[in-house]
Amino acid sequence: MSARSKQTPPEAAPSHGDLPRRVLKFGGTSVTGASRVDVIARVVRDRMERTRPVVVVSAMSGVTETLRRASELATRGEAGELLREIETRHRQAVADVTGGRPEVVEAVERLLAEASRLMQGIELVGECSPRTLDQVLSLGERLSMHLIAGGLCARGINTRAVDAADVVVTDDHHVEAEVDFPATEERALAVLGPNGSVPVVTGFLGATKTGDRTTLGKGGSDYSAAVLGWALRADEVEIWTDVPGVMTADPRVVPDARPLRNLGFNEVLELSHWGAKVVHPKTVRPCRDRGIPLSIRNTLSPDDPGTLVTPRAPASTMGPIRGIASIDRVGLLQLNGVGHGTESITSRFVQALDQARSTVLLLSQGCSERSVCVALTPQSVRPALRAVEKAFELERRVGLMDDPTVEDECAIVAVVGEGMKDQPGIAGKVFGVLGEKGISIRAIAQGSSELNISFVVRREDAHDAVRAIHAAFFPTEPSARPVAAEAAAQQESPAPRSGPLDVVELATELIAIPSLSGHEHAVTDFVLDLLTAHGWKVRTQPVSAGRVNLWATRGTGEVTLSTHLDTVPHFFPPRREGGKLYGRGACDAKGIAAAMICAAQSLAEAGEERVDLLLVVGEELRSDGARAAASLPATSRWLVNGEPTESKLVSASKGSLRVVLRTRGQEAHSAYPELGRSAVEAMVALLADLRTLDLPTDRLLGDTTMNVGTIRGGSAANVFAGECEVEAMIRLVGDAQQVKDRITQLVGDRAELEWGSHIPTQRFHTLDGFETTTVAYTSDVPILAAWGTPLMFGPGSIHHAHTEEEHVSLQDLKSAVTTYERIVRAVLAS
Ligand code: ADP
Ligand code: ASP
Ligand code: MG
Repeated sequence: MSARSKQTPPEAAPSHGDLPRRVLKFGGTSVTGASRVDVIARVVRDRMERTRPVVVVSAMSGVTETLRRASELATRGEAGELLREIETRHRQAVADVTGGRPEVVEAVERLLAEASRLMQGIELVGECSPRTLDQVLSLGERLSMHLIAGGLCARGINTRAVDAADVVVTDDHHVEAEVDFPATEERALAVLGPNGSVPVVTGFLGATKTGDRTTLGKGGSDYSAAVLGWALRADEVEIWTDVPGVMTADPRVVPDARPLRNLGFNEVLELSHWGAKVVHPKTVRPCRDRGIPLSIRNTLSPDDPGTLVTPRAPASTMGPIRGIASIDRVGLLQLNGVGHGTESITSRFVQALDQARSTVLLLSQGCSERSVCVALTPQSVRPALRAVEKAFELERRVGLMDDPTVEDECAIVAVVGEGMKDQPGIAGKVFGVLGEKGISIRAIAQGSSELNISFVVRREDAHDAVRAIHAAFFPTEPSARPVAAEAAAQQESPAPRSGPLDVVELATELIAIPSLSGHEHAVTDFVLDLLTAHGWKVRTQPVSAGRVNLWATRGTGEVTLSTHLDTVPHFFPPRREGGKLYGRGACDAKGIAAAMICAAQSLAEAGEERVDLLLVVGEELRSDGARAAASLPATSRWLVNGEPTESKLVSASKGSLRVVLRTRGQEAHSAYPELGRSAVEAMVALLADLRTLDLPTDRLLGDTTMNVGTIRGGSAANVFAGECEVEAMIRLVGDAQQVKDRITQLVGDRAELEWGSHIPTQRFHTLDGFETTTVAYTSDVPILAAWGTPLMFGPGSIHHAHTEEEHVSLQDLKSAVTTYERIVRAVLAS
């Protein structure tokens, strides 16, 4: 069943109160230039139809780095040129992006003047403290915030600029501050609450409890987005950048790197930790903690699906490894010797590094404990060397240990993939490839999680190493598959089997493939391959941005079995427990899809070729899949639609109707009732009267019900409210017009009425010998009228759909296969 969308088709009046939050982060390249701001506006407008978005922005490309360099040069009074560069770029951008909106010009000029003052201050004292540096660095995002908020306003979107210093609370560790999550959550809920405008928030920035500005570390805007997503319990965090998602390698290093459609949180964490800067490594944890899907999308190609990151991604068809990353500048510090005393060399070595506050990226130790070495960030190398020399001074003097050695100009290369632990010989292949290329390895480490193999090479060899490993694991020779299937082959989905179908196995496989509405590619690819392998003729119907519906036939369809393949958030993987199959989509609707596929297959094997399968996308969102399918040249006379109906045939379902009511008052001081008139009081009285209204009842479906979902209005307790607005949704049991008429009559001129989307009440065909029921929810069925007389049936209960405990009983799942077969035979015989 659909969550909100079926109740919010595009033509509906926008409803905000019940919509989830969504965080959209636009990186440096994505905020640079008017055409990119057009894209941002398009994306934001689209998300506003089904979520309440929060936009997070980075500084324009290169600005943070320019500010950093300017602050260094300012100590010698030489920042002028860079300052001019920043001024010119932003003045130009205000003109390009906002058409020179006066309020944006003013805000930008104020910040540019602040930049100039800060540089003068640095020059005066001759140094730039970390605290001052944070003030300087904050300017990039603050400038961007005004540009984008103004640019979106100019494109008709109501926005407000929000400085993250008012939202993100941090410690006082300037330049690399730590976030205080509870304090930030409280502020985010207060500051970013819905008030009708889209907040445009600065990424990368925070402030201490006392209001001192801080920054979150290089590339930290991704982290800001995750922190805000966490605080607002967003339904998804989207990172918009200049590549088609997370790729098998940095495309600047490996030109034929490929985008990855699905990844697990752990895999992204590893890839980003080892240098894939497409997302900041800190981004993962907040999302993972609250099970918030993370997607990486491309502003250059906004309709591409990008990469979807969820707790566990389906296994890759591209092999056991997901990607290769590198950290291109590290130093190697090595210590050899036998030591003395009881404490191990390694532990004393690590203690010394700790004392020097060095950042250790990789540690490798010989098993004899005679040799230990670490890869460090370049800044850590000298302090670490001094600390280690000091710690082992005694042994060095008596010749038990050698002097520690340093090798600068090294790099770390890491091979990452969840699938590596199940497959032996990966390390052998990696090192074999490097041997062939003559690349020498300075140190090796394998993560105990077996998610990565990482090693140190000389810096000049790093990119050759990445390219050689990529070529070995992701060969480019054309595959044996036909061209149309090529794209599918590059995606991530388990290989389908062509043997006999088992409904529980199939349901489990379908659940394991995340397929949030809008991200159904992997699951439709899987089903396409599966049905093709079983002899079905499958047509793919484009819906949007490469998303497709699947229509499978064997002959001329007279009965169509149909359900959807998308799910609501949040993904959770399949598990079997106590005779039940749990997982997102278990009952709504992947269990159903599996049962329909098995039933259709079994009928086909028995020679019945008049059954079609129609599997649509987008049902949980805006029914865009069903709307597209409505125009296909369907041949069937009967449509069996699947939704969780507790294994009963549905005789009727309620319809729905949305309405907005608006009262207007006269604002005045509340101490003088004679001067004003309260819109809120008027609304309260009207709602009470509406409750007494006699609305239709139906023998089967029961009462018409109405839910006042949101109320907005008033500005303060001591002011008569000028306006009040209510969004309500009515569950219909019959004709909508009758309900509209009665409400219109009662309301009269006491309020304005704005009717929203209407989904009609639906009657279904029923069959003798089947238990029947009614349902109060709506489905895709009214849209699919062209597919034949509707019936509705499915295993599982709507009470479990969309919950964290979504499940279907294995017994019900198995009997659904035979029931679908019985239904098909019964209608064909009628
Ligand atoms: P933004 O300014 O949008 O935050 P970044 O420059 O921080 O963008 O990150 C995007 C860049 O990350 C890409 O242009 C790409 O060169 C680089 N990158 C490194 N490794 C990868 C990878 N594995 N997949 C995709 N992009 C990668
Ligand atoms: N502008 C900041 C930086 O370049 C943060 C970001 O872009 O993510 O580090
Ligand atoms: Mg970035």
